[in-house]
Amino acid sequence: MNTRKSRNGFTTEVVHAHRRNSTEHGELHYPITTSAAYGYGKVQDLIDVFQGKKPGDVYARQSTPTVRALEEMITHMEWGTGTVAFATGMAAIDAVLFALLCSGDHIVSSKFLFGNTDSLLKTFQRFGVSVSFVDVTDLANVMDAVTPNTRMVFTETIANPVTQVADLVEIGELCRAHGLVYIVDNTMTSPYLFLPKCVGAHLIVNSLTKYINGHGNALGGAVTDTGLYDWSQYSNIDQRYKKGDASRWGMLQIRKLGLRDKGASLSPDAANRIAIGAETLELRMVRICANALKLAQYLEGHPNVGRVYYPGLESHPQHKRAKSLFRGSSGLMSFELKHGIDHLEFLNRLQISVMGSNLGDTRTMVIPVADTIFHEMGPERRASMGIADSLIRVSTGIEDAEDLIADFEQALSG
Ligand SMILES: *Cc1c(COP(=O)(O)O)cnc(C)c1O
Repeated sequence: MNTRKSRNGFTTEVVHAHRRNSTEHGELHYPITTSAAYGYGKVQDLIDVFQGKKPGDVYARQSTPTVRALEEMITHMEWGTGTVAFATGMAAIDAVLFALLCSGDHIVSSKFLFGNTDSLLKTFQRFGVSVSFVDVTDLANVMDAVTPNTRMVFTETIANPVTQVADLVEIGELCRAHGLVYIVDNTMTSPYLFLPKCVGAHLIVNSLTKYINGHGNALGGAVTDTGLYDWSQYSNIDQRYKKGDASRWGMLQIRKLGLRDKGASLSPDAANRIAIGAETLELRMVRICANALKLAQYLEGHPNVGRVYYPGLESHPQHKRAKSLFRGSSGLMSFELKHGIDHLEFLNRLQISVMGSNLGDTRTMVIPVADTIFHEMGPERRASMGIADSLIRVSTGIEDAEDLIADFEQALSG
């Protein structure tokens, strides 16, 4: 299903999104609104906004015009029906689970999750939500884990750092058949490379901090509803939010319980930076994917390098799946060095790549995985996730590919 045909190209749509949103003075960027509260000339207008009968803002923890303009941009990119933005990607994930789960519920998720999401789900277990962490590259594992209490399946597209690609199509069919909410974290692929709606996702999570903003200068997160779930069938919608069109109930509950009550609101200033960054998402992704493929191919052919994990390589176990689903294999790869080469000394020899933990930046970032982001998990859990002690994660940026490869070349032979 390629629904993109019915409108302008991705970048044309994004760069004109705010102007089409009719700003007051024709601003091309949506202005940054700094007001905490919004005032009304007639009390009935205030009441109607409060009761959701009229659009508008009352207090900036719940909504502001600047953040709403970004939410509409994300909705448009994901072909969704609505988006709620948050202060970070983690806040967005937390809000969805907090707003939609009750104690006694069960969810199926991935054993290759982003480390902080994995930790968050473990905390939910303390509150009576049970979680099965399964190998989502194979539908059979997801199917076996489903119980009568299962409410949702939560998966990422390409896992971090070993780049396993989930069986996104089949999991979507399973969720539809069982009435489960299908949540896809699209951070690693971004709506330019992949539309989770095409595989039947009901809710899409994006960390705006990564590729969508893309410049490492703002944090943000978003949850988008694709409109494919019938929320009148979902057992945990509070009576208060069963108002109007049932296709909107889920998002209303997420906005009220996950944003208003928890308060991890995106600042208008960050929303402005993210919206400007998003204008070049396609341009950056094309370059980042090309750089990643060139670097992965170079590393795979190097005698001092052991395994290279990148879905764009034919040697990757889900290469065909990635090729059929995504417009590119994104910028994340990881690799092991051959025995006898110290991975930390190798990292110290790199001149261009930045040692740090972000990904989706314009700059190439490298990090020793077992010593940092997956340190807290311990050696056994790391081994079960395929993470070797010497594993190095690379997130390629938009530098010139020849410079990146020359830098890795000197560091590998040093
Ligand atoms: C970074 C990341 C998050 C969390 O996003 P933040 O904006 O850093 O809170 C969630 N999921 C994935 C896949 C990520 O890479």
